[in-house]
Amino acid sequence: MTASTQTQQQWYATIALPVPLRSLFDYSLPQTTTPDTRKQLAGCRVKVSFRSQTLIGIIINCHQTPSFDPNKIKPLDEILDKRATFPAELLKLCWWAANYYHHPIGETLYTALPQQLRQGKPGELTTTVWRLTVEGRGLPKDGLKRAPKQQEVLQHLLVHPHLRGDEIEARNISPTTLAAMIKKGLLEKDSTIEPPPTQAEVDNTLVLETPPNLSQEQQAAIDQLRYHQFKTYLLEGITGSGKTEIYLQAIARVLQAGQQALVLIPEIGLTPQTIKRFRQRFSCPIAELHSNVSESKRNQNWMAARDGRAQIVIGTRLAAFTPMKQLGIIIIDEEHDLSYKQQDGLRYSARDLSIYRASTLRIPVILGSATPSLESLHNAIHGRYHHLRLTKRAGSAKPPQINILDLRQKPLFAGLCGEAVKALADTLANGHQAIVFINRRGYAPTLLCHQCGWIAECRSCDAHMTLHRTPLHLHCHHCNAQQPAPRQCPSCHSTQLNPRGLGTEQTEQWLQQQFPQYPVIRIDRDTTQRKNALTETLEEVGKGEPCVLIGTQMLAKGHHLPKIALVVIVDCDQGLLSSDFRGSERLGQLIVQVAGRAGREDVPGRVLIQSHTPDHPLLECLMTKGYHRYARQLLSERQATGLPPFGFSALFRAESKRPENAIEFLQMVARTLSQIAPASRDIQYLGPIPARMEKLNERFRYQFQLKTSSRKVLQGILKKGVKQIDQHALTKRTRWSVDVDALEN
Ligand code: ADP
Ligand code: ZN
Ligand code: ZN
Repeated sequence: MTASTQTQQQWYATIALPVPLRSLFDYSLPQTTTPDTRKQLAGCRVKVSFRSQTLIGIIINCHQTPSFDPNKIKPLDEILDKRATFPAELLKLCWWAANYYHHPIGETLYTALPQQLRQGKPGELTTTVWRLTVEGRGLPKDGLKRAPKQQEVLQHLLVHPHLRGDEIEARNISPTTLAAMIKKGLLEKDSTIEPPPTQAEVDNTLVLETPPNLSQEQQAAIDQLRYHQFKTYLLEGITGSGKTEIYLQAIARVLQAGQQALVLIPEIGLTPQTIKRFRQRFSCPIAELHSNVSESKRNQNWMAARDGRAQIVIGTRLAAFTPMKQLGIIIIDEEHDLSYKQQDGLRYSARDLSIYRASTLRIPVILGSATPSLESLHNAIHGRYHHLRLTKRAGSAKPPQINILDLRQKPLFAGLCGEAVKALADTLANGHQAIVFINRRGYAPTLLCHQCGWIAECRSCDAHMTLHRTPLHLHCHHCNAQQPAPRQCPSCHSTQLNPRGLGTEQTEQWLQQQFPQYPVIRIDRDTTQRKNALTETLEEVGKGEPCVLIGTQMLAKGHHLPKIALVVIVDCDQGLLSSDFRGSERLGQLIVQVAGRAGREDVPGRVLIQSHTPDHPLLECLMTKGYHRYARQLLSERQATGLPPFGFSALFRAESKRPENAIEFLQMVARTLSQIAPASRDIQYLGPIPARMEKLNERFRYQFQLKTSSRKVLQGILKKGVKQIDQHALTKRTRWSVDVDALEN
């Protein structure tokens, strides 16, 4: 076949659409597309009509072999990009995620894409510019000399094609000048694609501040890092040991080599402080991608990273999908944090995804934590990850002293025992700050009638309503339902309605009465809703005046609060007694992370853990031997029971208004999977069983688990199974999902 006949044959594009279907769709390409254009079409966005709607899809590839009757294939409406929105590397990453998590590719691609690009906004960074109109160009050279500023604009534009925002600022030209010229019909506003960064801009990776001299341990860790090759490093270092300093120095190396760095941090909370440290160190453009970034900014930052304009990207989970022109290193701070796993839609782990990404790019990835996840620790112990350890605090800070307070038979004041109250009083009297940690917001988790035992329950969930006092109301923390708090028991009309249990508001109120001369500052989801509220509060606390901070897990995350001398953990028993297989892992991490807030600088730190089970062997192990030994002990328990990381699992979840429907669907899943692979010693099926909270938001929820002793077997069963399940009639009627490497069991 000659080249000329080939070009005349019809070409098709395989397109991924944002629909919950695992298939791809063929559309015909316009006859006019040239071979050169076709080569660049993969990853471009297109407009197509699909079942009487117009959708924006992504081109996967171009071909000449239609998947069904060519006469029925519709032409695509419009190609939106001149250049791929998804560079090849990102496309490959998305394919991996779609396959590994058994999620439709179209939805996977859409998860990665910023909202504005999903809606079809331009895929290039544009800048606003001002140009002369035809009339303006017709003016004589000094045609505006009576208005000197307007004359200046005219002169510039007679020699240059346009005037940019930054040039206008630099020349001190006011908006009124421009407006006057626009009104006269001489000037018009336009936008243009930003030119690629100049070499000078790329080289602008200056280190702004002098880094501290590294400790021996830090130096040893840095010396072991290798660049330009794939390796996963687990940097296990106690809080305050200088992990961030290692990230900064590793990044400096990568930037010097002309490459970019991707830094993942847990969900909002510690972002402002972390980002500030990066900005203090580097003068290069840093793009942020997290929930506090507006959609349009997110869009710009995404493109800046893709085009190599931003040298560092810092973001939460979703940033793992940022396209990067020259990625040289990935850093995952607090790698154990649960927020790295997405809990709906594409249920991916940003950590695992990043490790895969680093392997394909042949670059290093550093997982940092004071309390590594059991998965990562297991990999480090077995040599799959390179283990780096920091055992001492950087600078002058010393590790805090930790004590357990036995609560049994002791009077409690808003959850605090006498010793804890005294320690708080002493801390404040010494001019220091304290943290009181309670993992529950609101005033009390239960409102109970003392006369008849009635409990305020959520109508839509299997849950108690939490009592809030500021303002007074009942609130379901699961479905977000809110209602006024009753004055009388709806069942027996008694007025003896008593709060039971403890939330942050209650202890806050008590502490305010107890220590009226000091600020008591509550930090939980209720007090930090306003944008920047958390940052502002932490800045205030950072000034160092004596105060008590009271809060939930938001406080546990890596905030650097130098003046905290005391941390009280009000109740650590919940985690120990939890039925969730990760309960004790999480508790250990939480205790160590909260404790890590104490004594960060010159103030010596003290941690008090209140418990009704002070002799619990796990607690004992954590106290006397530290997190690493504790985690190893948990690992041997997991090994004995075949739980992750010794077993691999996928959780099918289904929910429906009527419980039978969800159960019926999962029974079908059970039949399908066990036909593909019968249960054996290495393959186990569990369920369908009710989810931990069976009823949530008016829907009944069930689950079915597949457990195997090898990842490969698990993936094999899922690959065949999900395909078959997809085609079953029940599937269309049911809200269901599959969660690979689920956090729960
Ligand atoms: P981590 O990330 O492990 O919690 P950081 O990197 O935040 O620890 O370090 C804790 C504190 O110690 C920070 O204030 C940091 O500036 C300081 N620091 C880190 N490394 C050094 C060093 N080598 N010498 C002096 N101070 C250091
Ligand atoms: Zn009652
Ligand atoms: Zn509810």
